[in-house]
Amino acid sequence: MPEKFQAIVIGGGPAGYVCAIRLSQLGLKTACIESRGALGGTCLNVGCIPSKSLLNLSEEFKKAKNLSKKGIEVGDVKLNLTKMMQNKEKAVSVLTKGVEFLLKKNKVTYYKGKGSFKSQNEILIEDNFKKKEVILSADKIVIATGSVPVSLNGIEFDEKIILSSTGALNLEKVPKKMVIVGGGYIGLEMGSVWSRLGSEVHVVEFLDHITPGLDREISKEFLKILKKQGIQFHMEHKVETIKKNSLSAIVSTRDKNGNKKDIDCDVVLISVGRKANTSGLNLDIINLKLDEKKRIITDKNFKTNLNNIYAIGDVISGPMLAHKAEDEGVAVAENIAGQSGHVNYDTIPGVIYTSPEVASIGKTEEQLKNDNINYKIGKFSFSANSRAKAIDDTEGFVKIISDEKTDRVLGAHLIGPHAGELIAEIGVAMEFGASSEDIARTCHAHPTFSEAIKEAALSVDKRAIHS
Ligand SMILES: Cc1cc2nc3c(=O)[nH]c(=O)nc-3n(C[C@H](O)[C@H](O)[C@H](O)COP(=O)(O)OP(=O)(O)OC[C@H]3O[C@@H](n4cnc5c(N)ncnc54)[C@H](O)[C@@H]3O)c2cc1C
Repeated sequence: MPEKFQAIVIGGGPAGYVCAIRLSQLGLKTACIESRGALGGTCLNVGCIPSKSLLNLSEEFKKAKNLSKKGIEVGDVKLNLTKMMQNKEKAVSVLTKGVEFLLKKNKVTYYKGKGSFKSQNEILIEDNFKKKEVILSADKIVIATGSVPVSLNGIEFDEKIILSSTGALNLEKVPKKMVIVGGGYIGLEMGSVWSRLGSEVHVVEFLDHITPGLDREISKEFLKILKKQGIQFHMEHKVETIKKNSLSAIVSTRDKNGNKKDIDCDVVLISVGRKANTSGLNLDIINLKLDEKKRIITDKNFKTNLNNIYAIGDVISGPMLAHKAEDEGVAVAENIAGQSGHVNYDTIPGVIYTSPEVASIGKTEEQLKNDNINYKIGKFSFSANSRAKAIDDTEGFVKIISDEKTDRVLGAHLIGPHAGELIAEIGVAMEFGASSEDIARTCHAHPTFSEAIKEAALSVDKRAIHS
């Protein structure tokens, strides 16, 4: 007899584990199934957390090397990559174990193994660790199986020379030369890490701009800053082939005018996107519908074409971000429990954790133009912010966009120190339907980076004080 639950969640990433906890909090007997042997999904194991650990440590390394310029003599600064990697692994391990504790604390039953559909209400778990099979049944099933990296046609990741982001997080030595295919946020974060640690980094991008989808003015500034940091960009170049030797590779590219360029390197990071992961779920036997990109189709309540089955996170449409996945986890749990769970997709921030950071929320100028919405813009540069000046971290600016008539904030785009933290203020403002004047009239502590937000808001009506 299968063990009976009220809800089963397949996948223990930010979407799945958060959903399972919320379901249990709402009184449903819940199971969460995870196949990788550790909870936390891509985010905790091979995504957000290890990448931020390496971004932080590599930035510390770079800063330490430059401290003498600021009057602090620390002697010879040397890199111990093994220790740096151990530090990253420690952060991952503490956090994944923390999630296991949270499941226990919230009385969620955790199954280690790969789940697949046996019927519309039954899940078979193949436990590779204990070498056994278990069958569970439930009234409601939530699919939260996330996403996996995609490669270029015919090129396989070996994670030694041809890397996905997972391989780029685990290199045993600093490559002399690294080619990154794709100028999206994951590639640029990893490029920053290895460039700071000493690699010569080349980014090959098919488009004429990096970070597609980002406000174009910010994207241009970002490209300028990354170039200044030493990363080399090959814009409007298409990768045609990658030839691998035993210890290196040659990336053959062609520009828009047909000119060919070969770049030799030690490693190639292919960072051209991720795809929904539905492999091995046995979705055919229940006739669950997927869209043209093989993502699971859901309605606004995260329900699939089958009445008792829901899907959330990277496996459905929308930005592939951990906080979007978490919010969907909470919303779907509340819907299943008869409440009105909801995610506001207009206020999901996106952050790139480079130095300086890049953060964005709401509409870009390009989107507003496209939608024929009239808008006003306020901008303020960190070079006029006293805190940024005091610590000599003045690159970048804040840009706030509001409705021309109502002044309601429609979006904000930042590049600069702590942009990833600063964006939260705009998120709250937008959730409350604030105008740029509301932000401008809010007292901000001095001296803080957040004063740049206030000044940008003042600048929407051309009354910034410090510029
Ligand atoms: C290098 C990198 C850096 C990133 N940095 C950020 C960042 O800074 N901020 C941010 O917001 N996002 C970041 N992301 C994206 C973020 O990791 C994802 O958006 C997020 O993890 C999606 O959560 P999820 O729960 O939908 O899927 P996942 O985290 O992918 O979790 C799905 C889980 O389901 C499991 N699973 C799959 N199939 C089965 C099955 N059949 N049975 C049981 N278990 C199964 C998988 O093993 C996986 O653990 C990053 C991603 C990468 C790769």
